Amino acid sequence: MNVPFVDLKAQYLSLKSEIDPAIQTVINETAFIGGKHVEAFEKAYAEKYGMKHCVSCANGTDAIYVTLKALGVGPGDEVITVANSWISTSETITQTGARPVFVDIDEYFHIDPSKIEEKITKKTKAIIPVHLFGQPADVKAVKQICENHKLTLIEDCAQSHFATFHSQKTGTFGLAGTFSFYPGKNLGAYGDAGAIITDDDDFARRARLFANHGSLLKHIHEIEGINSRLDSIQAVVLQAKLKHIDEWNQARNSHALTYNALLNGLGEVKCPKFRANSFHIFHLYVIRAARRDDLAAFLKTKGVSTGIHYPTALPFMPAYRYLRHRPSDFPVAYECQDEILSLPMYPELTDEQIAYVADSVREFYKK
Ligand SMILES: *Cc1c(COP(=O)(O)O)cnc(C)c1O
Repeated sequence: MNVPFVDLKAQYLSLKSEIDPAIQTVINETAFIGGKHVEAFEKAYAEKYGMKHCVSCANGTDAIYVTLKALGVGPGDEVITVANSWISTSETITQTGARPVFVDIDEYFHIDPSKIEEKITKKTKAIIPVHLFGQPADVKAVKQICENHKLTLIEDCAQSHFATFHSQKTGTFGLAGTFSFYPGKNLGAYGDAGAIITDDDDFARRARLFANHGSLLKHIHEIEGINSRLDSIQAVVLQAKLKHIDEWNQARNSHALTYNALLNGLGEVKCPKFRANSFHIFHLYVIRAARRDDLAAFLKTKGVSTGIHYPTALPFMPAYRYLRHRPSDFPVAYECQDEILSLPMYPELTDEQIAYVADSVREFYKK
């Protein structure tokens, strides 16, 4: 049996009758950038979050960068984030001229709140927890730390569309939530796309300004900005998919429960833990496995594709060699590097496929 890591084709086929005419409409109207389709998606996304503003942009990396710039983060500042994430979270901090400060992870792969305060200095401006793999970080604890130290909370929700913590949606706890709609994300466009949500009118205005060459009125540039736009084809694809995101997230969550049940009792495998009071949307289903590389190679021979998210934690990347971090600075992230393995996960995954993947994992350890 073949089990791909993700299957975007299956989802497209299930929505073809909605998506094809929507894209054709954009082409017929030649309304490729900005305008009513983008506005309609922004409105729908903000409403589904119960937030006042959605500022769309070109991708999830820009969503973080625009947020930091609109907040006024720059040279001399420090921004705290987590050791295990995609590099967008930290490279955008550097791009503003500020310095990224990494914190080790907890048992759920998220920023460890108990290790944040020792990293706060007079230069710290903001904290960016990442709701990695689709599960909420302990954002309530992080928010409390932000309040105690007068820091801004920004949530990287690139992997956590509509995940909740204590019944509150991730992305709504701080000043802003940033999203990626990269095709493989839970809510994926057919190209690059991103967005910021916020309740803060002034911040929303500054974000929109910066993402659009510093201009809100044609030919009047209040500041210099960048070009970070959502195009209309992505907007209509996202609009069509938004109606299905809840059922897809539910399906992912239930696939994870099935995996956990089928892998239960296997000493060599630690299944992902569910944080209490949270709804985990399983962007990725990540186990910790003994002899990880051999397991991945074996699964490949069985037709099962896997991934590693991420093989090297950010502080140990060549890009951050200048920070001179050692494994003992981030012991948990360091230990996870060689154990984590992402198994196939997407809403259209069937029970037969999940059982086959779990059986294959068991077969490997029986040998
Ligand atoms: C995907 C991702 C991003 C960046 O999104 P792009 O749309 O690819 O720029 C940022 N942070 C995290 C945690 C991500 O997974």
